[in-house]
Amino acid sequence: MKQVTDQLQRPIRDLRISVIDQCNFRCSYCMPAEVFGEDYRFLPFNELLSYDEIVRLAEIFAELGTEKIRITGGEPLMRRNLDELIARLKRIEGINDVAVTTNAVFLTKQAEKLKAAGLDRVNVSLDAIEDDVFKRINGRHVKTLPVLKGIEAARKAGLPIKINMVVKKGMNEDQILPMARYFKQTGDTLRFIEFMDVGNHNGWNMDTVVSKKEIIDRINEEMPLEAADANYFGEVASRYRYKDGSGEIGIISSVTDAFCGSCTRVRLSADGKLYTCLFASAGHDIKRLIRNNYSDHQLLLELVKIWTGRKDRYSEERNKTGKQREKIEMSYIGG
Ligand code: SAM
Ligand code: SF4
Ligand code: SF4
Repeated sequence: MKQVTDQLQRPIRDLRISVIDQCNFRCSYCMPAEVFGEDYRFLPFNELLSYDEIVRLAEIFAELGTEKIRITGGEPLMRRNLDELIARLKRIEGINDVAVTTNAVFLTKQAEKLKAAGLDRVNVSLDAIEDDVFKRINGRHVKTLPVLKGIEAARKAGLPIKINMVVKKGMNEDQILPMARYFKQTGDTLRFIEFMDVGNHNGWNMDTVVSKKEIIDRINEEMPLEAADANYFGEVASRYRYKDGSGEIGIISSVTDAFCGSCTRVRLSADGKLYTCLFASAGHDIKRLIRNNYSDHQLLLELVKIWTGRKDRYSEERNKTGKQREKIEMSYIGG
């Protein structure tokens, strides 16, 4: 099949699949406990895409040029038998990279199994290294130790690891240096993510963003950095190496330095809606088509129609016009 591109000539390279909307954490900027409380109604099991449905869609995306898959959530390791899904995704022709984004707590039990299933790498989200700050952020009073143990388990299993830290003013900017020091010494790449205006409940405004420049300046002052080249076209993080040769950091600057021009990502929510942008207000209901007995060919034509019509570039537009709109939640679409 010929490579499909959207209205801005961007191919579909990366498929992000949310496998569950539930999570063991209540991070204040993602699933605040006041909103996602006891009586919050998560998706019932039969509304989630089954593994058969996910694999079928992934095969069609691979035909359209997709090479990478990232499994996310909610907390993806809360979906039963995730290793089975990973093994099946790894067998798809054309898919050469399958990764998981996780808060790492369940990696202690699952890392070996996931590696054995063929998982290529993990991204671990950790927003602070000091317990007091971390406990406040994750909304469940969890200390950093279970996360650090999860990271250790992934390392032992032989999984490459990157650490992602969302930086939000007033929440954890005092953790930039302690986190950089800690992961410089372990040798894991730490990537700082500018706090984004995804979802409708996290109280985002421009004043809460700690910019890429500010983050680099702070680290550079203590641990000198130099810019490094991107590893591949469309890499979301800008890379910086420590001048003393002890590894690197990354910055994902979706707010102050948007990268929509090279955005080759498509997102599938846990209940089978397809989003062509992280900031979309509505998705395309693919589960309905699957459950209405669409053939593979009909599904493929539908996906081609959606992608070829795509002209999303929300972050670039936000920077020009300051425009805001109603959006889906990050825990639903998975980042
Ligand atoms: N639970 C898993 C985890 O935390 O890694 C996977 C899902 S989580 C929604 C994926 C990533 O999105 C996490 O790294 C999280 O920090 C990030 N995230 C959530 N809300 C965000 C926001 N408003 N701005 C930037 N990143 C955000
Ligand atoms: Fe859960 Fe991840 Fe959202 Fe935190 S960022 S609440 S761990 S889904
Ligand atoms: Fe891609 Fe939308 Fe983010 Fe731009 S704003 S990089 S189009 S997901």
